[in-house]
This record gives sequence, C-alpha cells and structure tokens, in this order.
Amino acid sequence: MTSYVFITGGVVSSLGKGITSACLGAILEARGLTISMIKLDPYINVDPGTMSPFQHGEVFVTHDGTETDLDLGHYERFVRTAHGGRNSNFTTGRIYESVIAKERRGDYLGATVQVIPHITDEIKESVEKGAGDADICLVEIGGTVGDIESLPFLEAIRQMGIELGHDRVVYVHLTLVPFISTSSEIKTKPTQHSVKELRSIGIQPDILVCRSEQPLPMEQRKKIALFTNVQEQAVISAYDADDLYKIPQMMHEQGLDDIVARQLRLDLPKADLSEWEAIVEAKQNPTSEVSVAMVGKYMDLKDSYISLVEALQHGGIHTRTRVNIHFIESRDIEERGVNCLREMDGIVVPGGFGDRGIEGKIETVRYARENGIPYLGICLGMQVAVIEAARNLAGLEGAMSTEFDKRTPHPVVALITEWQTETGAVEQRDEQSEMGGTMRLGAQQISLQEGSLGAISYGKTTIEERHRHRYEVNNNYREQLEQAGLRFSGLSVDDLVEMIEIPNHPWFLASQFHPEFTSNPRDGHPLFIGFIGAVRKYHERELPKVAEA
Ligand code: GLN
Repeated sequence: MTSYVFITGGVVSSLGKGITSACLGAILEARGLTISMIKLDPYINVDPGTMSPFQHGEVFVTHDGTETDLDLGHYERFVRTAHGGRNSNFTTGRIYESVIAKERRGDYLGATVQVIPHITDEIKESVEKGAGDADICLVEIGGTVGDIESLPFLEAIRQMGIELGHDRVVYVHLTLVPFISTSSEIKTKPTQHSVKELRSIGIQPDILVCRSEQPLPMEQRKKIALFTNVQEQAVISAYDADDLYKIPQMMHEQGLDDIVARQLRLDLPKADLSEWEAIVEAKQNPTSEVSVAMVGKYMDLKDSYISLVEALQHGGIHTRTRVNIHFIESRDIEERGVNCLREMDGIVVPGGFGDRGIEGKIETVRYARENGIPYLGICLGMQVAVIEAARNLAGLEGAMSTEFDKRTPHPVVALITEWQTETGAVEQRDEQSEMGGTMRLGAQQISLQEGSLGAISYGKTTIEERHRHRYEVNNNYREQLEQAGLRFSGLSVDDLVEMIEIPNHPWFLASQFHPEFTSNPRDGHPLFIGFIGAVRKYHERELPKVAEA
C-alpha cells in the first residue's frame, strides 16, 4: 500500500522544490524504501515538449519517451527506484484533455462535468497511476500556493488526505524565509501568510521546509511553528548549500525522514547516506581542474541544458576533476572567431533545434578536430560534426542538414523521408515522419562497434539510450564519410547512425542520443567519465593548446 508525500511551495517560485523533493526521495530510499515520484504542473500545455527552453528550461525525456518537466531529471538523478515515465508528469492540459475525451465518449452519463469532482477525480486517478506499487510516492505540485491554476491540484491532494488518512499522507510545504539586510532581520511573515493560504483551502502542512541564506535560528523556528500550527521539530531549515549533494545530509540531520516515517508509522532501518557523502568528498577534493566549453544557444539560460551540465559534473566526480563549464554562444564564434576556445581543455556541442548559430557550431567542431581537443557532441552536436567532416574531410562543399538548408547539394543529415533507402524498417519510419515530422523519442537499443571508443567507454557493445530528435545522418553518404576518416561506431537496430568517432584524434565522439538523461552522480555515465578523463589528460599534458588563431 503506497503512502503519499505531497510537496507544495509558497511565497515565491524557484525555491528548489524539485531538488527538495528529490533529496527527500533520496533519504527515504536510503532507509530501504522504494520511491515513485510525480510532478503535477498547473500550466495548460499538454506536455512541455513544445515549450520554449527560454520559458521552461530543459525538456527531460524519460525512458518511455515522454517529454517532461526538468524536475523529473532531478528525481532520476537522486532516486534510483524512481523510474519516470508517462505517468510521472501531469499538467492541467493533460488532465483536461482526458476529462474532455471522457465527456465526449459519454463516460459521465450526462452529468454536468465540473472541476469538483470530475477534474479532481481525474487528478487523483492520475496520481494513483503514477504512484505504482512504490512504498512512498512523492508528489510535487508545481507553482506557488495562491496561484489560480494550482487550485484543482491542491483540492485533489486535500481530498486524498481525508480519504487515505493522516498515517498515509504527509504534506510538506516549502517556503522562503528572507533576510532583510538593511534591518538585519529574518522575516517569518511570508511563511506565516503562505501557510495561512494553504490552510484556507483545507491543507494543514505537517512539515515546513524553510529556505533561507543562513541556518534558521531556534527562535525563528519556534515562532514559525507557533504561527503555523506545525510542530517545532518539523520546521526544517533548508539553508543555501554550496553543494547540491550536501542537501540530503542536511535534511537528514534535522530529522526530516524521521518525521515522515513516524507519521506514516514506518519502522525503518537507519539511513545509509554514505554514497552521498562520498560524492561531496570527491567534489571537495579534486586532483585536477579543467575548463570545458559548451557551445550552443540559450547560453545565458543554464536550465536549458541542466542534465548535460549535471552529467559533466558527474564525470568530474568520478575522475576527481573540478569541471569549470564555460557557456559560449555559437553566434559569438561566428562573429568573433574561435579565439574564445583557446584556453579550453574540452569542447561540448549540445543538442538543439533551429539554425541560429549553426555555422559557429560547425566552426567549433573543426577547431576541436584540427587541434586534437577532446570533443563530445550530443544530438545536434553529432549532426554538426558530420556536416563538418563532410565539408572539410570529404570535400563535400555546402554539405548541410536539411533542417537548416532544404536545398543543400549534400544533405548529409536529413529527415528519413528525404533520403532513399530500401530497407523495410526505414520505410516504416518514413510514414511516421510524414505525419508532421515525428520525433524519435525515448530509449532505443544501439550496437557499438567492437574496439571503438564508444564500446571501450561503455565496456560493452549493446547499450540503450534516450533520443529526442527528427533528423538522421543520411546513410547514402556513409561510405564516403567513412573513407574520409569518420567512424560510425554506433548504429540503431534499423541501421541509423547513433554514434560517430574520429579514430585519429585523441578523443572525438558524438552521439545522436542523449546520454545526459541517464547520468547520475552516484554511478556517473561512461561517456561523461571517459570525456572528462580525456579532458583531464589534455589539460595535464600541457600541450600547446593551439597554433595562434
Ligand atoms: N534538431 C535536430 C533534430 O531534430 C537535433 C535535435 C537535438 O539536438 N535534440 O534532429
């Protein structure tokens, strides 16, 4: 029987509700429980797949190919038993879509369809579906208490509290406790008001997690407890941590997991947080420090590449390397050249859509290839590497992806419908692509060439990784590119290019899939560990970085 922990947020957004939820999941898992995690998002988009990274940050792709909120990435990085998927992220849009479809089918037998009970029932059913058979399901409600949009979700979780009872439901509320520097005072009023708002819709929080710059003094904790009707020890101080991975320990020290366990009447073994401690220790004691350039667009919005940034850091943890990431707009490379890459020990071109800065990315690949700088290309970062090799190694002038130039003389990357092949499997995909350029989404099996850098990094030749893209390397050019020095080291079951390498380069590997979605701090990921290892070697050899540009 699954118990539920609902996490709401108050006062302001961006307090780190996703991280808090993920960390609570991590501690509870460290006490032997299985965990499922759900995010409820109050916006009306059916899923975040079509939302701009500018507004919404990264779209996280789950194993089953669902395009989800980036918080699901936090969940998977922190909690091993939480396998995100189609039933782990529900938006208002998706809930309404389902209710309206039922209404059209006549499922409601002529009843007037209303927010209560129809929408709230749909939310409750969705939560139960997403919970699966985990011991505890953590449900994070997006937005801030007081928003109009989140009301149906709050009403649904209120009902669940009544229906399941106090020993199966815990309400956690995350708030901000600001420090006013002009008067040197810590202010508890916003928290009081936020809880008041929550109580006015029938939810009495059991636990408050208070975000503040410094640890909250006892006096303020007492005051908050008194004014919010929450037990004093259940006012947890989540002060700013210099390292994300210290948070599970910080919360555990204050007894957060004990409070949850007591309320849910669970008799649990002690928390084993040794893996988290080892991560913090590794991060604090690096034996080398490197600079990695990430060249893409949206570079001033780090949330757009959050999984990739994390995965690079995981590579650092597992090689004891401090990884300093330099975010570089590929447009700047177009305008000012590759000089800004001169101090870099490694280069990453991440995934992306749209042609902005594309030539800058191609130039970046050329620079990495010609100067023997470790290169990791992800998705679009692989496609630009293929274009670069076509132009500069195979002499295919004007080679391009048809995503950016429909009339290129050499469409080395294109929609499958745009290149002719004879295999049945591809024809099947052709049909899908015609239905509006269907994305290849989610985990698929990949075969790696024996002895390739990819196979050596993974330590095996069959892997499974996640995808999110439309365009593919044009198989008609494969032979020509291979002769020019490109190695197609990974192929999908239906013979699509999944990974490329340049064998006569110290470390040059790019993938059509997104390895960053399966990296986590405790295990790391073979490609990121391999890449950072190479970056480190490049740094330590102190080779002349590059001839004067
Ligand atoms: N725009 C490219 C495609 O659709 C790459 C996508 C990506 O990098 N995620 O194939």
